[in-house]
Parts: sequence; C-alpha cells; structure tokens
Amino acid sequence: MPSNRDTEIPRLLLDWYKKNKRDLPWRKTRDPYRTWVAEVLLQQTRVDTVIPYYERFLKRFPDVRALARARVDDVLKAWEGLGYYSRARQLHEAAGVVVKKFGGTIPEEMEDLRKLPGVGAYTAGAILSIAFGRRFAAVDGNVIRVIARLFAIEDPVDGSTAKNRIGAIAERLVPASEPGHYNQALMDLGSGICTPRSPACPACPLAAACRARKKGNQESIPAKKKAAAVPHREAAVAVIRNDRGEILLVKRPGRGLLGGLWSFPGGFLKEGDAPSAGLRRSLREELALKAIPGREMFSVEHGYSHFSVTVHVFPCRIRGAIPDSGGDVQLRWVGITGISRLAVSRLEKKILKALPSCKKPLP
Ligand code: SF4
Repeated sequence: MPSNRDTEIPRLLLDWYKKNKRDLPWRKTRDPYRTWVAEVLLQQTRVDTVIPYYERFLKRFPDVRALARARVDDVLKAWEGLGYYSRARQLHEAAGVVVKKFGGTIPEEMEDLRKLPGVGAYTAGAILSIAFGRRFAAVDGNVIRVIARLFAIEDPVDGSTAKNRIGAIAERLVPASEPGHYNQALMDLGSGICTPRSPACPACPLAAACRARKKGNQESIPAKKKAAAVPHREAAVAVIRNDRGEILLVKRPGRGLLGGLWSFPGGFLKEGDAPSAGLRRSLREELALKAIPGREMFSVEHGYSHFSVTVHVFPCRIRGAIPDSGGDVQLRWVGITGISRLAVSRLEKKILKALPSCKKPLP
C-alpha cells in the first residue's frame, strides 16, 4: 500500500544526491553515447575499475561512428581484463546498427533502444533518463535491494512475484523532473548506504520511509532463492612453440565464451578424459592438429560467473604442418611481445605468467 511517505521518496533522494553525489567522469556529460558506454562498462564491474577503462575507451572511440568503424579486435583489446567480453562485442555491433539504421544518432525511444544488441531494460532506462531526461526507471541490483527494503518485500527477489512488484514500484517512483539524477541517486544509495551487508540506516535519507528498517529485518532482505552450486569443469590447453620461440594461439569465432579473444589451443575435457588424451582429442576435432603432448607443466584455477575451471597446461609438439583450420577459427604464431598487442582473457594471462620463459621449442 503506498503511503504519504512514499511520495516524499524522490524529493528526499534528490536532496541527498545534490549534497552527496559521487564525482564520476560520466556524470560530467549528458552525451547519450558516453552514458551508454559507461552503463555497459559498469555492468558487473566496480566503479573504481571502470573509471580508467571509460577514459581510455572514449579516447580511442570518441563517438558512435568511431566505434562502429573500429575492428572488433581493437574494441576487445580496449576491454581486455574487464571480463564479460560479450558486452564489448555487442556494444560494437550496436554502434554499427546506430550508424546504419539511425544515421549515427542514438535513438530516444525505448522500443528502438531495446532492439540494439546488448541493450536491456536497465541500460535503455539509464540512457533515456540520464541523457534524454525521460521518465524511465533503471533497475539494477542496487535498486532492487533498496526498493525491496524500502517496501519490506520478503519474497525472493529473483522470483517473478517480487520482480514484478519491484519493477512496478520502481516505475511509479521515478519523478517527472530530474529522472536521471533520481536514478543515479538510487544507485549511489544502494552502493554506498543501503549496502548488501550492514546498511548504514542512520545515515540514510529514506530511513523514515523504510518499512524494513521499521520491522528491523533489513539485513535479511533481499532474500534469494537457494543458489545452485557453481559447476566445476576441467580443460586442457597446449603450449606449442616453433623454433623462433613463438607460441601458437587460436582465435575463436566472435560469439560464445571468450569468442573473439586469442587463447591457447585446447578445450574442455569430456567425462572420463585423461587431460592429455582430452587435449589430443580437442586439438584434432577443433583445429585438425595432430598433437603429441609432453608432461603436464602446471594447472591453473579460474572462475567465471557461472562455472569454475581447472586448466591443465601441456607442452605440445605437432606432427606435420599446421593446417589452415578454415572457417572463423584463426591460428597464429605470436612472439611474447606480440601477445601484448592481442586481446587475451584473464585466464590466458594467468597461464602466460606461470609459463617458464623458455625460448627453445618445447619437447
Ligand atoms: S533505512 Fe536502511 S534498509 Fe532502509 S533504505 Fe535506508 S539504508 Fe536501506
């Protein structure tokens, strides 16, 4: 049930924001391209990490046309180390659509924005409210937590009942004036005051309106459904060197896990595979390479959002010539210095760091 206090929420929040807003580079502009880039970078990534990427990215691709013209490899290189590379590929693809379909102007309608690759309800709401001053909510994890607490929503927030309720409240609360500031205020409140653990309620501008605080159950909100255990997988990769000491890397097609990035050749093991046998199989099946793995050098552990992996690293010799793998897969010999110019994932960096600095071909 809405109460009088609820109607005060936007004003209280905006007053607080004016005094407490964080000085962030993307808040110095209302250029929709810059807002868009910032919002995509900020997905799943901390503000402090994003700032230098944001500045470098805009220096390299200052407007949507520059981004659309760029090679996807260069965009991935600028994204290197941030993870979730599909964001970069989709941003690049969407820039192409904006140039082709909208003459280089970022669309102002929700329907048009949502059709762009990678632009979901949150990103579209953020662009429309922040850059165009339109009355749309931008509901991310922080906003979900704040609203769930403000309205003491005890159902799991990843279930449809709570999701629908929070979405409706979020839309209703957005004020007609300064919707962009309001959305950013809610995000700031979520990240700095109404934090996942130990929210700083005494410092909160919305404390008087907060139903969870009144009930004393703010620490147990938001509830979540019981998380499934993160699956663990095993993989094996090959370090194949030529007599110049260069390493063979592979670039997989643009979509899928780590698509468009350069990596060591190899793949996931199947159940029952010994690592070296699994490696031989995946090199044969995926790249038509006849490999002779040596003794395992080391293994590295790596975590993705939806699974973790142990990667066994083998020195390998290749029998016969390196064939042209054809299709979208590319193979390339790269010197250690050349690797720094290619877009590689964090996993590859871990392997490179652990690799003995051997210049000779491995046995
Ligand atoms: S009073 Fe506490 S729980 Fe409620 S919104 Fe503010 S910080 Fe969050």
